[in-house]
This record gives sequence, structure tokens and C-alpha cells, in this order.
Amino acid sequence: MKNINRIARNTCTGCLACEYVCPANAICHKTDKFGFFYPEVSERICIDCGWCLAYCPSESVDFPLIEAECYAANWRNETYNQQSTSGGVFAAIAKMFLSKKGVVYGAAASLEMDEGYSVEHQEIENQEQIYLLQGSKYVQSSMDRALPKIGQRLKEERDVLFCGTPCQVAAVKRIFHGSDHLYTLDLVCHGVPSQQMLKDYISMIEKKNRGKVVKIEFRDKKKGWESVEGTIWIQRNNSVEELPFESFFSSYYGLFMRGETYRESCYSCQYASADRVGDITIGDFWGIEETNPDIAEKLDKKYGISVCIVNSEKGKQMMEQATMLTRVHVQLQDAQIHSQNLNEPSKHSPLRQAVLSAYSEGGWEAVDRVYLKHVGLKSYVNNRWYRMLKKIKDSILKSQEYPNLRGRA
Ligand SMILES: Cc1cc2nc3c(=O)[nH]c(=O)nc-3n(C[C@H](O)[C@H](O)[C@H](O)COP(=O)(O)OP(=O)(O)OC[C@H]3O[C@@H](n4cnc5c(N)ncnc54)[C@H](O)[C@@H]3O)c2cc1C
Ligand code: SF4
Ligand code: SF4
Repeated sequence: MKNINRIARNTCTGCLACEYVCPANAICHKTDKFGFFYPEVSERICIDCGWCLAYCPSESVDFPLIEAECYAANWRNETYNQQSTSGGVFAAIAKMFLSKKGVVYGAAASLEMDEGYSVEHQEIENQEQIYLLQGSKYVQSSMDRALPKIGQRLKEERDVLFCGTPCQVAAVKRIFHGSDHLYTLDLVCHGVPSQQMLKDYISMIEKKNRGKVVKIEFRDKKKGWESVEGTIWIQRNNSVEELPFESFFSSYYGLFMRGETYRESCYSCQYASADRVGDITIGDFWGIEETNPDIAEKLDKKYGISVCIVNSEKGKQMMEQATMLTRVHVQLQDAQIHSQNLNEPSKHSPLRQAVLSAYSEGGWEAVDRVYLKHVGLKSYVNNRWYRMLKKIKDSILKSQEYPNLRGRA
């Protein structure tokens, strides 16, 4: 039968386009032992129409066809900037979009007592809700509840802005192809672990710390845009304590940054290049102080600096209307120098196999042991000492470093 059962597992991104378009409801998705979801076709129900294959972005991608323009940009708005991971470009475009009565879709996190931490694409309709979608969540977000709503909005002829990983953008564009009302932002993306992995990690942290995780930030701007460090807030008795969430000490974050725990398709991602799928591509402008030092100074790294690649006429239109952005034209090649995923997909090391085996045999606790062994007990202890000294130094300098703008999250 001509259906998506023939798609190689390592190219399926789990975008759910096939399930959404199947006219016979023959497709549902199931999670594998690592928590990644994959579609499954019931051959009994399948009517052999071939729609799922026609819509599957892994079969072919529609890249916009104009010459890309590249910018370094940020939005130095005190209210919005610190909640953004990079330069706040998403928030600026979302705000512009909402002011014109459009709706915006992006990944929002929730921490329900019963269900634990989850990330899913949600709609917002007013500017007070932008903070819900701001900030990177380093995990695959689910799209199943958002897709029908996007379809409904487009039918109502409302303008829809969708922001997500390139594979999600490709799916949305494919499903709602031809809609003049659909606008997209794709992220420079190096890959996603599953939500099950993150939930299991959180359970381990709760057990070790005898408390309840109440909030997570993957990139905490208070620590500086380039720090790639976050914070976990844990409640014990009646007080809430901050735990560092960073790549050296956290097995989840460390394995994420090292590229060992992504979905299989991320290692051959067809979107990891300078040819982009969204109307505008946004990411961190890593290395700008080396490639364009004058621009880095002008934009001020304290606020984060984003790379924005404008890939279509709709992208140009959005960029022109987001007048609150400070933006400077740069060469795309400059942005590519320090951004691996604008050139090629992420790679993993042999550690991935050890991690996945440990996970399927002993859960995240086993992964944690593998990680600790990998980073080495001696350097782990040395780094703890180093971090304690750094914390003391930072707390002395903190008040001068960055105004405290947080307060809504
Ligand atoms: C999994 C992941 C990997 C990334 N890898 C890189 C990288 O290697 N290099 C790089 O330059 N930039 C990367 N980014 C993008 C970068 O971290 C910023 O998200 C981007 O620069 C936008 O920043 P901002 O300040 O404009 O907006 P922000 O407010 O930081 O971004 C918000 C937008 O990101 C979307 N988003 C957040 N988490 C997810 C998610 N899990 N799935 C889908 N969409 C999500 C939200 O929908 C929202 O629209 C990654 C982002 C994610 C989510
Ligand atoms: S890539 Fe998307 S459309 Fe294709 S098989 Fe996987 S989930 Fe279905
Ligand atoms: S690396 Fe590619 S396949 Fe993986 S989540 Fe990102 S865009 Fe999707």
C-alpha cells in the first residue's frame, strides 16, 4: 500500500502531518521506548489514497524561492527582552502580529501537578500572553491539539503566525499550503529530546532533592545571553529553592548540548542548512563579536543578539512592519561561521548508544550514572568548587550587571 509505513524511521520527524490529513483516520501515533512518537497506519482501515505520503515533508520540502537577506537584530524592550532566549525577535514580531488582530502559535510549557512538565504548541490572541510562548524549551513540543485550531483560524481568514522548529514549520506549511494567511518563523535548531526523557529527569531531580519542581527555565538571561545555563525552581516544605540547570552538572542538559539524546531524524535533518523553510529564520547570532564586532557593540550583547534570515516576501513584509527591532544587514556567511546547524545536522558520539541502552534498561537514573562517569568524577568535583567561587563572585557583581526585569513568569 502507498502509505507512510514506507517512510524510513530515521527520517520521520514526528510532525503528525500524516495523521492530520488522513481522510480515513487510519493513522495514530505511538511512542517508542525513548518517548519519541511515530505514526502507525492500520492497513485494515487505510484506503490507499496516498495522501499521507503526499503531505509528508520528509518526502519533499517546499523551500521559499527568493534570495535570503540576513540581519543581526534585537528588541531592547525592558519588559519583553529578558524573557526571550536570544534578542527578542519572536516577541517583537508576535506583538506586531497581534496588534493587527492576528493569532500567534508557539511552544508553551506547563507544569501540572498530575501530568508533570509538558510542552505543546498553543495559540495566543493578545499581547499580555506573549510571555507564555517566549524562551526556548529544549524538548520536542507536541502539535496534535494545535493543528486543527490552526486549520480553523485559516478557514476564518484570520492571519496566523506560527513559530517552531523547521520540521514543524515544514509540516504546517505542507498541511495548509497556499494559505495567504499563514506566516512562519523557523528556529535554527540542533535537535530535540523527547518529553518522556525530560519528565524522567525531573522525577529524578525531585527524588534526589525531596521536593517538587515548580518552574524550569532552559536559558536564564540573568546569567547572560551567551551563558547557555538555566534554572530549576524546586519547592521543599514552604520554600522555593533555585537549582542551577546547566550543561556540566545536569545529565539532561549536558547530553542535550552534546547532541546525544535527540530524535533519530535530527542527525540527518534536511533543514539544517542555509536554505530555510520559514518566512523568517531566527536563532542566536553566535560569534558576532568575532565576525562583526562593530555590530555586536551597536546591538549590545547584554540584550542578546539574534540572527534573522528573511526567506520570502511574507518575511520581508513582517520584518518591515516590526519597526521596534534594531537590525543591521550582515552577510549570511558570517552567521554560518559559528552556527553548525546553518551548515549541517548535529552529530552524536558513541556515547549516544551507551546512554540509550542505559535509559531503556534502568531509566534516567542509569543515564545519570553514565553521564557522571563520562564527565569524570574528578572534573565534576573540581567544577563544583569552581562554580561555588563563581557564585560568590557573581553575587557581588550581580546588581551592576543587569537590571532585574523579570517578574511575570
Ligand atoms: C530545541 C531548540 C534548539 C535550538 N537550537 C539552536 C541552535 O542550535 N542555534 C541557534 O542559533 N538557535 C537555536 N535555537 C533557537 C534559539 O534558542 C531561540 O529560540 C531563537 O533565537 C529565538 O529567540 P528569540 O529571543 O527571538 O525568542 P524566544 O522568546 O526565545 O523564542 C520563542 C519562540 O521559540 C519557540 N520555541 C521554544 N521552544 C520550542 C520548542 N521546544 N519547539 C518549538 N518551538 C519552540 C516558541 O514557540 C517561541 O515562538 C533553538 C531553539 C530550540 C527550541
Ligand atoms: S515526517 Fe511527519 S508526515 Fe512524515 S511520516 Fe513522520 S509524522 Fe508522518
Ligand atoms: S534537528 Fe531537524 S528534525 Fe530535529 S527537531 Fe530540529 S528541525 Fe526537526
